[in-house]
Amino acid sequence: HVVIENVYKSFGDVRVLEGVSLDIKPGEVAAILGPSGSGKSTLLRTVNHLENIDAGRITIDGKMVGYEQRGDKLYELHEKEILRRRTNVGMVFQQFNLFPHLRVLDNVMEAQVSALKRSTAEAKAKARELLKRVGLEDKELAFPRQLSGGQQQRVAIARTLALDPAVVLFDEPTSALDPELVGEVLDVIRDLASQGVTMLVVTHEMGFARDVADTVIFMSDGLVVEQGPPREVFSAPKHGRTRAFLGSVL
Ligand code: ATP
Ligand code: MG
Repeated sequence: HVVIENVYKSFGDVRVLEGVSLDIKPGEVAAILGPSGSGKSTLLRTVNHLENIDAGRITIDGKMVGYEQRGDKLYELHEKEILRRRTNVGMVFQQFNLFPHLRVLDNVMEAQVSALKRSTAEAKAKARELLKRVGLEDKELAFPRQLSGGQQQRVAIARTLALDPAVVLFDEPTSALDPELVGEVLDVIRDLASQGVTMLVVTHEMGFARDVADTVIFMSDGLVVEQGPPREVFSAPKHGRTRAFLGSVL
């Protein structure tokens, strides 16, 4: 359960998040839409504390991300504790960020062993199960460079799921792919959605957002301008900025 309360974030005097609040329930899929520069990536990055925040708070299953409260003040956690809590938040980027020198199986095992201290046998069994789930059980010995972009992104998804995160964040997971490879990655994400994985997905794939998301969040200028079930937001957007954006992309 991800709760984002009144989060503010600036870079110098550039104000990027101007009081964002969201509540993503377990098993929910939220699609985040909005024009370039509206703060979508920055918002995702605050949820696993890749960015600190200036005000507000973010909790995952009741635990604060990045900070702890002492008295009525928030203090940033120590690096070690930040890293520990971050294993609870999966992140899949536009660029797949696999370890180029590790085989597929080792990519999916690595953090299980190093961050979660699982045994090699346990990590291997989990990695194999997940590679099967993303349709790559026959690629465990390949190196990333031997795979297509779509296959690499599916490995990245398996690697993220291997840590059993409470929520998975996707930042334009198909934007770097050739068009014919987009479908296979969206199918995997669709499959996770049907299995109840909680997800926040920044995407420009409107068809996907409409079919898969439980809730669509439209951001503009650092604010959530509109939020609702896809049917409502797509067919009857309430705000001018949402209408203008959908008009330009649909
Ligand atoms: P896009 O659709 O292009 O990915 P976005 O909605 O993800 O856009 P962000 O990447 O969150 O937008 O950026 C929001 C604003 O914050 C932009 O004006 C960007 O230039 C600025 N910004 C983001 N990261 C930094 C940074 N590390 N330092 C300074 N400014 C930044
Ligand atoms: Mg972005």
